[in-house]
Amino acid sequence: MSSSMLSGTELQRTPLLALPQEVAERIAAGEVIERPASVVKELVENALDAGARDIRVELRGGGLHLVRVTDDGYGIPEDELERVSQRHTTSKIRAVEDLGRLHTLGFRGEALASIAAVSEVVLVSRAIETETDGQEHPALQLTLRGGEIIQRGRRARLHGTTVTVRDLFYNVPARLKFMRGARTENGHVVQLLRRYAVGYPSVRFNLTIDEHTALQTGGSGDLAVALAELYHLPLHEMLHPVDVSDGAHYAIRGYIGNRVLAQGTRQYVTLFVNGRWVQSKPLQEALEQGYRGLLPKGKHPLLVLYIDLPPGELDANVHPTKTEVQLEHEELVVAALTQTVRAVLERSPALPEAVDFPGPMLANQRRLPGPRRRGLHIAESAEGYRAGQASPGTAEIIAHLRPLAQLQQAVILAEAPDGGLYLVDQHRAHERVIYEHLRRTYAGGAEAVDAHLLLEPVIVEMKRYQADLLEQRLPMLRGLGLECERFGGRSFLIRSVPAGEGNEQLAAHLHELAGIAAEDSPDWEDHLLIGLACRSALRRGRELSAGEQTTLLKALASVSAPAVCPHGSPVLLHYSRTFLIDKFDW
Ligand code: ADP
Ligand code: MG
Repeated sequence: MSSSMLSGTELQRTPLLALPQEVAERIAAGEVIERPASVVKELVENALDAGARDIRVELRGGGLHLVRVTDDGYGIPEDELERVSQRHTTSKIRAVEDLGRLHTLGFRGEALASIAAVSEVVLVSRAIETETDGQEHPALQLTLRGGEIIQRGRRARLHGTTVTVRDLFYNVPARLKFMRGARTENGHVVQLLRRYAVGYPSVRFNLTIDEHTALQTGGSGDLAVALAELYHLPLHEMLHPVDVSDGAHYAIRGYIGNRVLAQGTRQYVTLFVNGRWVQSKPLQEALEQGYRGLLPKGKHPLLVLYIDLPPGELDANVHPTKTEVQLEHEELVVAALTQTVRAVLERSPALPEAVDFPGPMLANQRRLPGPRRRGLHIAESAEGYRAGQASPGTAEIIAHLRPLAQLQQAVILAEAPDGGLYLVDQHRAHERVIYEHLRRTYAGGAEAVDAHLLLEPVIVEMKRYQADLLEQRLPMLRGLGLECERFGGRSFLIRSVPAGEGNEQLAAHLHELAGIAAEDSPDWEDHLLIGLACRSALRRGRELSAGEQTTLLKALASVSAPAVCPHGSPVLLHYSRTFLIDKFDW
């Protein structure tokens, strides 16, 4: 390697020099302003900080030609407008201590400076307190290019601010080269605005991309309505409200989508901490911990949760884009998130139709779902959804299901009190009931599961490596009602099975079950419980009397996770009343 290539070492020997201002500006801009969506983010946050209720975003050429954000916030006083684009100029904090009581999204005073350094910016603002005094043009307008003011003027407008950003990165060719096509950049902006729209449901958002409306919300203040507006789906039936708090360190509110809304990406997992959208590894993992095993592998729920903490227990100043935060009582919040997600998904039935979810390519406005009828339907169903009309929990619904008939000797058809139809997979339902019973008694540890003596003991032959593991576990098997002893060599004699309905069926599966009991895995006990439940559960093909159907439904109503079998497959299918109304066109 030639010495000239050892640039790293050479650099260290370069004398320290202050960077020229224009260079410094571009470096900082490179951190926060990476792409058009970063511009939109900063401008929208400024509008929110200014108390705006109506925020319009306009995009052209993927945001490289033009980004314009118009708000009806409190505006910027005339004598301050020239200074907003100076670096480290902010109205939001005065001293470091202010960070501990932050109630705004911005606080670094860098965004406008960073944007202005790499584009042409036109600022128009009228402060809310400005008197018109018969002035025809009460708003000041400034044009900056590369951070320098190149033009001043006046305009007519109501209070609020409009920031227009043109020719983004015109002076940073290296950055321009990294831009993907307009479609990709549009997609990022759509995703971003969806997040703000669900984060601030009382603000009206409107996004226009190349003169087509790509997203619009009414600012109703109701998150469920905002979600319906964004996804063009009658979502209210698929959302479970969340409202938990420890009364001191956290409050968590929002919605968690039904199992059927699960998506193959984390994009629809949206978390806000004190109004700030965050990407937090520990919080994300807490959620995943909660839905692991309850959703198919690789699937993530749709959820929007607002986490509120005392401002002093949150540090937002850990990353330039402010999407990472540190929580003082993280372990409390983590535990609450895991618990909350699990509780919802364990009870959430599947819906009959796969929900066709608009993906990120919604940015391509030509593909926007827009037929009138759909819009109308959503408006109606969203109208029907109001906080306070909380629907009864799944357990309560199942407890009141009225069995109507058995289909294919496998599925119980049942009517819900609200007129909806539930389909219950009898095998999986019974499997879930048995599994939870075994887990409670066995894992509870206090008492052993009752044993049912087999008329004829069964001999199973194990492989050599299995035999020793199995021998070590014989006491635990006894606790499960499986009386088993070594019978010389690699043979084992099984004398009993866990007592309970369906236990006669187990005799035929003891070889398989002994194999599970000898698994070289830390999860062998849970696997064995699942195996026992599965092998003793009612089969499909078994006719059930009306009484047996009722008994099974009652038993299902009392378990903690009635909607999923221990393998993670759905137990319940739900045809809601609205579904019937919609499909029959009543
Ligand atoms: P920060 O938001 O961190 O303070 P910015 O560079 O984003 O820094 O904005 C600088 C200042 O300009 C803000 O502190 C605020 O006083 C003012 N400002 C920017 N955008 C708006 C707006 N849309 N409405 C009212 N004031 C604004
Ligand atoms: Mg800002």
